[in-house]
Amino acid sequence: MKALFSSRSRTAALIIVGGLVILALLCPVLLAREARRAADFYPAEKDPFMGNWTGRWTDDEDVDPDISAQIIATGRNQYTLRLASRLFMRSPVLATLEGRAKNGVLEFTDKNYRIKIEDGILTGRRSSGSSSFSMKPYTLEVSALGKPAPEGAEVLFDGIGFDAFTGADGWEIVDDAMMVLPGTDDLESRNHYLDAQLHVEFRLPFQPKERGQSRGNSGVFLQGTYEVQILDSFGLEGTYDECGALYKLSAPQINACLPPGEWQSYDIHFTAARFAEDGTLTANPRMTVYQNGFLIHNDQELTWITAWKEKERLQPPPTEAGPVILQSHRSHYVQFRNVWIKPL
Ligand code: MG
Repeated sequence: MKALFSSRSRTAALIIVGGLVILALLCPVLLAREARRAADFYPAEKDPFMGNWTGRWTDDEDVDPDISAQIIATGRNQYTLRLASRLFMRSPVLATLEGRAKNGVLEFTDKNYRIKIEDGILTGRRSSGSSSFSMKPYTLEVSALGKPAPEGAEVLFDGIGFDAFTGADGWEIVDDAMMVLPGTDDLESRNHYLDAQLHVEFRLPFQPKERGQSRGNSGVFLQGTYEVQILDSFGLEGTYDECGALYKLSAPQINACLPPGEWQSYDIHFTAARFAEDGTLTANPRMTVYQNGFLIHNDQELTWITAWKEKERLQPPPTEAGPVILQSHRSHYVQFRNVWIKPL
């Protein structure tokens, strides 16, 4: 009996010691996970291929001589290329190709096109015929970035602190920007607004292994209710739940989304709903939105609420002023800067 007891004690001691050893080994991994910060999602060195490219066909293409490519990182050394005549238009997609980078060279091939990027130049040709094209990286100069708050505007964030918001626990200020971290809540402005002009700048994390709504995902809400979607939808279609959409209500006129890691802007003009004295709704809210200087919604009527679930979408418009909300979405590491609002 005594021998059995001591054998059991030994086993228990071994289990405890083993557990402690495993915990000690896991600790650096857990801490490293916790320590994932801005540099993991906003690398100082730009991906050499990802982004917009523009150029011209070299001959014979007098109908549409412009040619563009959007290259999206989809994994380690893996990329998708979207070929179209022009950027920032509803220009038909000519081809979508998958490619892999090797020794600094990225190649895409399908039955119609052969495309190669080497030393910062993209060259391509059709499999048949003599037509070829070449392209260089294209960076959009967004003149709205850094736009100063006009007279009568309230500055909600200018790089310093979270005073204008509630819900900032766990958010961090990194490189003069507010950043979402895991476990955080939405930021809500302390002041509430009805009709207003809002400026906000945002940056999306580089998460090549994620897809769709699992990439950098957030949103900016007017009157606490109406969301302009924020999502890394660079190079995608630009549908009603992607960047620039009035969420599930209206797709942007064009997909003006820039690659992750680049600062982008929204300039929003919001008119709240109107009601008669007896409380009857007389006019729905309306919104005009510019993304990176492109008009993506022109005086769009908000015929329902921009919610995920239909039950919420069908609620009547709010009658009271509401906050500006910057959506956390928890683990998406989205950044915001230069936020101001001018009540109208
Ligand atoms: Mg959202």
